Amino acid sequence: MNSPKRITPRSSDLGDGMVVLRALPTREQRMVGGWCFLDHLGPVDFPAEHGMHVGAHPHIGLQTFTWMIEGEVLHCDSLGNQQIIRPGEVNLMTAGHGIAHTEDSVTPGSRLHAVQFWIALPPDAADCPPAFAHHADLPRWQEGTAQLTLLAGSLGGRVAPTQLHSPLIGLDIRSTAATELTLPLRPDFEYAVLPLTGRVGIGGEDFSANEFACLERGGDTLALTLAAGTQLVLIGGEPFAQPVQMWWNFVAFERDTISIAQADWAAGSPRFGAVKAPGERRLVAPPPPWQGSLHTG
Ligand code: MN
Repeated sequence: MNSPKRITPRSSDLGDGMVVLRALPTREQRMVGGWCFLDHLGPVDFPAEHGMHVGAHPHIGLQTFTWMIEGEVLHCDSLGNQQIIRPGEVNLMTAGHGIAHTEDSVTPGSRLHAVQFWIALPPDAADCPPAFAHHADLPRWQEGTAQLTLLAGSLGGRVAPTQLHSPLIGLDIRSTAATELTLPLRPDFEYAVLPLTGRVGIGGEDFSANEFACLERGGDTLALTLAAGTQLVLIGGEPFAQPVQMWWNFVAFERDTISIAQADWAAGSPRFGAVKAPGERRLVAPPPPWQGSLHTG
């Protein structure tokens, strides 16, 4: 296998001292299959009285996929769902036509470590009705000293319960001891690996925590060499025929779709509903950068 492309995620400040590392999208890699956003949150030890608090904000055209590693976060959405997500669990929110939600640390002054992915919805599902699902039980198994959790898609006869709209895979691998393992790949998928802790060898190169490895397409197996104490996520999927546009919390195939959503949120349109959450704040949607230049040619 050729060496994977190495991408250094950039840090992004979500406010309140919550700094995340964003591996997707980047200039070098916009998407991996339908996966269009990857934030590594923490691990962070919040000072006393502090935690993550993300006020009410809307989404369209995507699924938010939260994978909790340490800590507890309360999700509240405009469909009326209130769900605490705990380590080893997934929250999967399908925005489709429109939804709003909040995310709040349950216990101030505690530790948080999580991954938030977005999955772009394909054209036939981009405007679907919103939905929310919580998954506490995911396929888990051991290969040598490595523990694998299937977050999305299927692998070796195992199927994740997460409801997706395009062919995808998501996998968490962790090992306290140094180990090697080989995974089957689909030659029609794009793949990438993000080590969250530790270090992994791929194609003769080492990738440390938060070095994003984007694999060349066409391979049918992937050999991974995990250093002791490594945890990583692997994502893959069928490439989209048409890339998505992203602005703020909106994903769409057309800029106009995003402009309309931004205006709807700013106007308090019932499209997104209302979130009932403790101490709710409503975030302001910045106008898309292309607005105001529509008539300049
Ligand atoms: Mn969100």
